Order: sequence, then C-alpha cells, then structure tokens
Amino acid sequence: MNEIIIYRALLYGVFLISPIVFVMLFFVSAPYGRFLRKGWGKGISSYLAWFIMELPAVLVILFLYILSERKSNPVLLIFLGLWMLHYLQRTFIYPFLMRARRRNFPLVIVLFSIIFNVLNGYLNGRYLFFFSEIDKYSLGWLFDPRFIAGVTVFLVGFYINVSSDTTLRNLRKPGEASYKIPQKGLFKYISSPNYFGEILEWFGWALATWSMAGLAFAVFTTANLLPRAVATHRWYKDHFVDYPDDRKAIIPFLY
Ligand code: NDP
Repeated sequence: MNEIIIYRALLYGVFLISPIVFVMLFFVSAPYGRFLRKGWGKGISSYLAWFIMELPAVLVILFLYILSERKSNPVLLIFLGLWMLHYLQRTFIYPFLMRARRRNFPLVIVLFSIIFNVLNGYLNGRYLFFFSEIDKYSLGWLFDPRFIAGVTVFLVGFYINVSSDTTLRNLRKPGEASYKIPQKGLFKYISSPNYFGEILEWFGWALATWSMAGLAFAVFTTANLLPRAVATHRWYKDHFVDYPDDRKAIIPFLY
C-alpha cells in the first residue's frame, strides 16, 4: 500500500482517538504517580520508565532527519532543535533528577507511551523532512508570523513546563516520596502548570510548523493532560484542607 495512504490513516487516527482518550481519562486516570493503584500489572522504576518511554521520540526524529535530503534547511534545523530541546531534557535530564524513584510505574503505560512516541515522531518527522512542500520551509518562513508566534509560544511553554517540574522536584528531599502543596510561580494560579506549559509547547509547535501532524500532537496532548490536570486538582483538594480555594486546575483564572 502507498505510504501516503498509511500516513494519512495514522494521522486521522490520532485525531479520532483524541476525543475518546479525553472522555475516558475523566473516568480512569492513568495509573502512575499520585494515581498509581493495584491491578495494572508489573511495574518498573519510574526514572527508567520515563527514560525508556521518551527515548523513541528522540531516535525516530533523528533517524528521519539523517535520512532526509533537506538536512541543511535552516528552518528544519530550527524545528529539529526545538524538538530536541524538549525531548533531550525529558529523556536524559528529567528522569535522572527525580527525587522519589518509585519502583512500580506500570509497564502497560510504558508500552503505550512508546507506541505513541514512535507514531508521533514518525508523523511529525516524515512530514517535516520528506512530505512537506519543498518550498514551504524556505528562508521566508523565518519571517512568517505563524513561525515567529509559534516558536515564541513553544519556548514560553517549555520554560513553564521545565520550571514547574523543577518546583515540584524541589518540594521533596532526595528519596522523599510525600506530596506537598506547591506555591511558586504559576502554581499560585493553577494546580498543573507543567501540563499547561506542555500543552502550550505543542500548540506553538503546530503553529510554527503549520502542519496537521503538529496539530494532531497538540490535540492529543490536550486530550491526555487536561483530564489529568482536573483529576490532580481534585486530588489536591481532597488531600489538603488548606489547599488554596482560588487556584484553578489548568487555565489561570478560568478552569
Ligand atoms: P506530575 O506533576 O504528576 O509529577 C511530576 C513529578 O513531580 C513527579 O516526580 C511527581 O512525583 C512529583 N510531584 C508531583 N506533585 C507533587 C507534589 N505535590 N509534591 C511533591 N512532588 C510532587 O507530572 P507527570 O509525572 O504526569 O508528568 C511529568 C512530565 O511529563 C510533565 O512535564 C508533563 O507535562 C509531561 N507529560 C507529557 C505528556 C504528553 O502527553 N506530552 C504526558 C504525560 C506527562 P510522583 O511520581 O511520586 O507522583
């Protein structure tokens, strides 16, 4: 079968599955971290899980870039740089700084994440480095408002994501596993600024690349993280009587 047909089917598949995942996750939170519970099979250490889950996102894009004949295109190099900025941090830094290395991160989540990261890397990389119109990402794209706004949103999202994860990490001493109320930065306004930053990043990516693959990623990330942010917000309220009343779940002042 023609690869383009398979590519489109996979792309539409991500758009189709997103609303299903979105609704499902309001009823069943993914069983890791604070929502870990019995009955989800064997688990592995959380830092190893994050490393294994995220590595394919680095490798697939790198592999496609190496195979591409557009390697020296400056716009594509910037996209590669942004992708790597996010995923090198998430794969090689984030897991190894975790304070409580729980030993029961379910393998089923690891497997699902690997499948998604391979698929998502393929959809984005194959489009950027092969399928996109040859003159779409010419030097002129660097001055296009979509590129400028998209890259800005991506970088702001990245900063919010990483700094919020750092705030969470610093709540614990090495080896400690208890939960506390975060108070710094955007935590003053929302319970999950790390998810908010992540969602911003991928909408910025979608805008900067102006691609359906980028949009599919942003939509899926929202479907995955918005219900988790709502569940996290509820969890904080249930576990801390002094949890700030005016704090929202994921959108400052609104939701
Ligand atoms: P969480 O906010 O649930 O946890 C992040 C880390 O902080 C974990 O180590 C957690 O420990 C710890 N932590 C959380 N809350 C507290 C607290 N109140 N007190 C002390 N420590 C705390 O994020 P996730 O683990 O779900 O996600 C990690 C990163 O991965 C985020 O940046 C997220 O945006 C990203 N991600 C992206 C996805 C996507 O679809 N693109 C999907 C999922 C995550 P513990 O593990 O013990 O709970």
